[in-house]
Amino acid sequence: MQAIQVSESSYYVQGFAALGNSQNKNFISNAGFIIGPTGVVVIDALGSPAVADELISVIRKITVKPITHVIVTHYHADHVYGLQSYKEVGAQIIAHALGKTYLYSDTTASRLAASKINISPWLDSVEKIIPADLWIDRQSIMQIAGLDLMIKPIGHAHTAEDLVVYLPSEKVLFAGDLIFSGRIPYVGNADSLGWIKALREVAQMDINALVAGHGKVSTQPRKDLQFVENYLLFLRTSMKQAASEMEPFEEAYKKINWSQYAHIPLFNTANRINAYNIYLALEKE
Ligand SMILES: [Zn+2]
Repeated sequence: MQAIQVSESSYYVQGFAALGNSQNKNFISNAGFIIGPTGVVVIDALGSPAVADELISVIRKITVKPITHVIVTHYHADHVYGLQSYKEVGAQIIAHALGKTYLYSDTTASRLAASKINISPWLDSVEKIIPADLWIDRQSIMQIAGLDLMIKPIGHAHTAEDLVVYLPSEKVLFAGDLIFSGRIPYVGNADSLGWIKALREVAQMDINALVAGHGKVSTQPRKDLQFVENYLLFLRTSMKQAASEMEPFEEAYKKINWSQYAHIPLFNTANRINAYNIYLALEKE
């Protein structure tokens, strides 16, 4: 694991474009960190305590300042299974209040049980997913680690509880899973229209570097924002007619020409289920 510096004070580590497994220890998403005058703020906790501990060691090689806070961009497994490592070093966790819905749902517990098998033994010590110490529900500029950070709720997009974190002094945005680059996005129970709106809002911001939830840092954010928007629009347009005419999903899926996306990593594992989720959501729109 290697920290990549994106501005004077900001860094990130890049997870593998893969599904979580025992070999990659569920290091399949990015985490960022910002070194402030009085401490370190981490953005996202990574996918297991083992990889979170690796990130803590990486940070320790750069600074001895305390890790005071972790900001969770959203409660998805690959971003939160490492949280307990940060509690152990005394950090406070900040997340959007709507993350509680995920945290306390039945599916979350069953997913953790399944992940413990798929990612064995790296989640053995995870008994529950850690709640935030501070739940927020509105945009605010917070003084953290001696920095002014803008924490901005931007969901329901990828999830209801999406937060982006902006460091105005260096124009760096940590965008969580609004942006996937170098792989097919994960749609899950996203609100595709809300997501597109959020992408357009981010496109208006003054950004020198954008750290995505997955994939390389973007110094030309518009291109990566556009990739996700185009993908969501393509899913919506392709599925719309089928959903409105109640055509069975499998038939509709087979007819679509996916060639522009088929070569992108995780197409085979993520695309069909993404299309299906959009199909189901369109039936309700
Ligand atoms: Zn996610």
